[in-house]
Amino acid sequence: MIQLCTTYYSHLVGENYNNFIESLNFSSLSCSKCNYQGSCTRHAFYTRNIVTPTSKVSIRILRVKCGQCNATHALLPDWIVPYSQILLTDHLEIIKQYEDGVSPHRITPSNPEIDTWTVVYIINQYLLHWQARLHSYSISLSLPIKQFIASCFKHHGRQFMQIKCTPNSLLTQTT
Ligand SMILES: [Zn+2]
Repeated sequence: MIQLCTTYYSHLVGENYNNFIESLNFSSLSCSKCNYQGSCTRHAFYTRNIVTPTSKVSIRILRVKCGQCNATHALLPDWIVPYSQILLTDHLEIIKQYEDGVSPHRITPSNPEIDTWTVVYIINQYLLHWQARLHSYSISLSLPIKQFIASCFKHHGRQFMQIKCTPNSLLTQTT
């Protein structure tokens, strides 16, 4: 997969993604498997559900195919955590509260669609897969979000809270 730096707007999530894909310069994309640049073309769409503060919304995620190595990659905005319906900002809010000493059952996400079981699940995944990763490179949860994301990709080759080891890369220049 390839993650792209974009701005998150809480309304019109799907339209926003579509507009972004329309304006994307595909020749700037590098394959996250073979690193070849300019070989990715549109391949297919799949649907992904995202839990926003008002409802669960579906967005159509574009997959591109690399003409060099034939790998396919989902193009995900950087405010998404791969394989999760919970947004990156919500993950961060929950984990920061936990690290500040709030017990998991007392954490109240500002997104009312996230229940206690999801909070507990997120914290367990964090403890299993990510707490040591952040500590090993002194990546602070209080960094500005774009810098935080870039640090996770730089040192661990994946998005924060991405659990599966699918190759992933962060594209910051899109023009
Ligand atoms: Zn490739």
